Amino acid sequence: MRDLSDTTVAVVGGGFGGLSSACYLADAGADVTLLEKNDQLGGRASRFERDGFKFDMGPSWYLMPDVFERFFDHFDRSPDDYYELEPLDPHYRMFFKDGDQVDARGDIDYMRDLFESYETGAGDRFEAYLEKSRDDYEVAMEEFVYEDRSRLRDWLDPSVARTAPVGLSLVGSMQSHVEKYVDHPKLQQILQYTLVFLGGSPQTTPAVYNIMSHVDFNLGVYYPDGGISAVVDGVVDMGDELGVTYETGSEVTGITRGPGAFRVETAGETYQPDRVVVNADYAHAEKELLPDHERQYDDDYWDSRTYAPSAFLMYLGVEGDVEPLAHHTLVLPNEWDDHFEQIFERPAWPDDPAYYLCVPSKTDDSVAPEGHSNLFVLVPLAPGLADGDQLREAYREKILADIAENTGVDLRDRIVVEEQFGVQDFGDRYNATEGTALGLAHTLRQTSLLRPSNRSSAVDGLYFTGSFTTPGVGVPMCLISGQHTAEALLEDMDADVPLAQ
Ligand SMILES: Cc1cc2nc3c(=O)[nH]c(=O)nc-3n(C[C@H](O)[C@H](O)[C@H](O)COP(=O)(O)OP(=O)(O)OC[C@H]3O[C@@H](n4cnc5c(N)ncnc54)[C@H](O)[C@@H]3O)c2cc1C
Repeated sequence: MRDLSDTTVAVVGGGFGGLSSACYLADAGADVTLLEKNDQLGGRASRFERDGFKFDMGPSWYLMPDVFERFFDHFDRSPDDYYELEPLDPHYRMFFKDGDQVDARGDIDYMRDLFESYETGAGDRFEAYLEKSRDDYEVAMEEFVYEDRSRLRDWLDPSVARTAPVGLSLVGSMQSHVEKYVDHPKLQQILQYTLVFLGGSPQTTPAVYNIMSHVDFNLGVYYPDGGISAVVDGVVDMGDELGVTYETGSEVTGITRGPGAFRVETAGETYQPDRVVVNADYAHAEKELLPDHERQYDDDYWDSRTYAPSAFLMYLGVEGDVEPLAHHTLVLPNEWDDHFEQIFERPAWPDDPAYYLCVPSKTDDSVAPEGHSNLFVLVPLAPGLADGDQLREAYREKILADIAENTGVDLRDRIVVEEQFGVQDFGDRYNATEGTALGLAHTLRQTSLLRPSNRSSAVDGLYFTGSFTTPGVGVPMCLISGQHTAEALLEDMDADVPLAQ
């Protein structure tokens, strides 16, 4: 493979995809400058600190530890060179709004009994579901996730034939797949809740994402001490060791081709790199940063995409403890079809929301002052939904009342720190199209090579990475996306694809 020591690369955006590709490219010898709009790195995995409370603003579930190990291992390092992991038990707690409560755990016998207690025979069927999930995970990760199949020709490889069982899972939906195993709505919800990580609904997400149950029950749920921002710090530090230059507070305003190099403009500087990797949201880059004739997709394309949900978030510093909430808690309506409908079909602030509560201070004393709890509330919302102070204020009251009613934890007189983040903020802070929290949803027509390509077909030397492209949404996927994008760039260099003209 080509040594990149005579190549300069600008990476636009400091989310996990950008940080990861910067590491791979610097490791290959390139002179890499990463330009980030905000004053901190991590993108949607930013951190917010006030009065001794430290909040992860975005991701909070550390899933797929195997992916993080493989990522650091490429650089002869390991995650524990940078942060410590704690396994969580329970993985999460679910409060159903009919008063029922269950814990999801990695103890498979416990889970088997739990399923059996709701439905005769469901214990065996849970195990069969999990076995299929494990098999699909192994094939899907090696053949579709680590193997970059973002072009049609990547699918003509003979090894794809052996993936037929996984390929078939692309055809059905998660809803029809789960129904084959369990009837009870709560059991279906336990197997489907992970879809919120993918930004889809059970009806529109392909059945192949049953692999998330293997991720959840077999691989486990972990907490990095200090929160996900400790993982950001780890990747940034490693990039530093590999020679990446970081420029924060540097919003890119245009990317054009100059003679022999690109021109990447920020308010104060013009960079002239040989190659450009864009980690900022793909739609933003195409619509706002590139000249029209150098775009691959027109406005109709972007308008017709299914964007993953946005979210209404409340970061709360609270006096006292918040028993019986677990580190991760989900509060679910008994029927969640209406909730998904109000996200995907008829956008509205959900009347009966499903939401997530994260209390990292259960595991980590460093994220809240003594005698206090650090809690954030995440309510998925339709992307592009009307947002504003009055709507938020009314919804805040509704959610705090809902939490009190369904979990028994009344936060209302105990909040000492509060900050909200919503649809508008995703747009303002991250240039997120329609304020999406997650990027493009993993619907069937937005999976694998049907996602926007990581290699521009309009401009040689221009690449994309992160949650809008392959393999998709979530911190582990974005780390892998960075690898694919760096490999695409290296492959083109090997093939002597010319520099920009
Ligand atoms: C609330 C929330 C909860 C989540 N929970 C989880 C979870 O528990 N586990 C999990 O694995 N994943 C979770 N995710 C998803 C995960 O955070 C994302 O998929 C991932 O972090 C996205 O990384 P990315 O590479 O796409 O870059 P992003 O994080 O989207 O970063 C892109 C960067 O580009 C910058 N940028 C934009 N425009 C410009 C410009 N013009 N110039 C310079 N810079 C620019 C932005 O400021 C941003 O920093 C969650 C996301 C959110 C929002």
